[in-house]
Amino acid sequence: MRKRIEINSKIIEIVKGDITEQLDIEAIVNSANSELSPGAGVSGAIHKKAGPQLYEYAKKLAPIKVSEAVITPAFNLPNKYIIHALGPRYGIDKPENMLLKKTYQNCIKVAEENRIKSIAFPSISTGIFGYPIKEASIIAINTVIEEISKISIELVRFVLFSEEDYEVYEGVVAQKDRALPS
Ligand code: ADP
Repeated sequence: MRKRIEINSKIIEIVKGDITEQLDIEAIVNSANSELSPGAGVSGAIHKKAGPQLYEYAKKLAPIKVSEAVITPAFNLPNKYIIHALGPRYGIDKPENMLLKKTYQNCIKVAEENRIKSIAFPSISTGIFGYPIKEASIIAINTVIEEISKISIELVRFVLFSEEDYEVYEGVVAQKDRALPS
């Protein structure tokens, strides 16, 4: 399952899959915890495949605050970098919408500082952190569209783990696509 749109020569893709299996992407984003420790969900999967060197390296950069992003090598993963970002916990870290937007902005800023051309995001905050998927997907996609026009990233991919989450993101992107001048 895959959808791709082009906006001002930049590609935005929505795929159903696993963030740890994005072979052609330079930097993957980890939906991290403040300590940058393995934990569960996306972070657990990334640390497991990257290997124990990842936490050895990352813990020196911890703790991070809500919406912050830091970069590490990807170790045993097929990518060059991992950008670790801490999204807001829904109902706890407020205002959630601004903090989620800032999280995506900070990831893109770190990517740009490292001259990264392709980046893959999971759906930040919509797992253990409880952010409703539709609201989160609108923020994720709008923020990426706003930011990438200003910078040199060429490809942004959203990797959704479940078919339901994929459908929600796909719906939001399809709506954007229809609104574009042809
Ligand atoms: P958060 O704490 O930010 O909510 P989670 O890791 O709990 O982060 O989940 C974020 C989203 O990522 C959820 O929708 C979850 O289903 C999804 N997810 C879990 N594992 C993976 C994976 N390996 N690749 C991509 N997405 C994943």
